[in-house]
Amino acid sequence: MPHGKPAGVRCVQLTDDNLCRLFGLPDRPAVCVNLRPSAEMCGETREEALLYLERLELLTRPNPLCDNRNRDYLLEQWHEFKGRGS
Ligand code: SF4
Repeated sequence: MPHGKPAGVRCVQLTDDNLCRLFGLPDRPAVCVNLRPSAEMCGETREEALLYLERLELLTRPNPLCDNRNRDYLLEQWHEFKGRGS
């Protein structure tokens, strides 16, 4: 993606079975190569992993306060998810 992947947009390099077309190739973006997944990031299910990504995208968007309702909902979901393990 020439101008980077916008938050909430599926990467064009992701295959239908959710594999990276660029894995192992020099064209793979540095941010992807350097990302080190953690158990917290991956969660126990796909739903938990997507929730984690949504939270990261929400918290790193340029103006996270412009949509407080969505932000509050996602943070609430995040805290609920985090509370499940304890
Ligand atoms: S690892 Fe990076 S390039 Fe590959 S599918 Fe994911 S976001 Fe896209």
